[in-house]
Amino acid sequence: MSVIPGRRGSEIIADLPDPPLSEGPILVEGLLAGICGTDLEVLSGHGQPPAGRDRLVIGHESLGRVLQAPPDAPVRPGDLVVGVVRRPDPVPCPACAAGRSDFCANGRYTERGISGLDGYGATRWRVGPATLSPPLSTRETVAIDSPVSAAIARTVTRPVSETGSETDSCFIVSP
Ligand SMILES: [Zn+2]
Repeated sequence: MSVIPGRRGSEIIADLPDPPLSEGPILVEGLLAGICGTDLEVLSGHGQPPAGRDRLVIGHESLGRVLQAPPDAPVRPGDLVVGVVRRPDPVPCPACAAGRSDFCANGRYTERGISGLDGYGATRWRVGPATLSPPLSTRETVAIDSPVSAAIARTVTRPVSETGSETDSCFIVSP
C-alpha cells in the first residue's frame, strides 16, 4: 500500500516496479507487515516520500523471506528476516556515526515506510546486510512492533519467549 503524504484518502494498493538494486543486494518477499499508530499517522497525512517522488510505500514492521542474497550475505534464500526501520542521517551525528541511529541527535535520519524511504508494505523489498535481522527460526504468529524489531535486528538470532527461553514461535506486542 502506498500513500501521498499530506493528502488524506490517497492510499492505494497498486502494482509498482520491483525495488531497485540500489536499495540493497538482498531481495525479500514480504510476508507480513504490521500496522501501528505510526502507520495511522502516515495515513492521516504525516510521513515523507522518497526524494523526488510524491508517493510513499508504507509499512515499517515487517516479516519477509529472502529470495536472493549474494554469497557473502549473512542470510540465505528461504531465511525469514525482519527489516530494520531507521537509516542514519547523512551528516552523521555522533550517535549515527556509532551505529546508534535510534539515538540520532539531529533528526535527519530516514525511516522505511515513514520518512524518506519506501516501506516494507510491498510484495518485494530490498535491504543491505546491515539493515535486516539475523535469520528467524519460524514464521508462526509473529507480531513485531518497531522498537522490538529494531532490538531483534541487533541482538537475537531466534525468537525469545516472555521468559527469555528460546522458542519456535512467539508473539510480541507493544506496551
Ligand atoms: Zn544522527
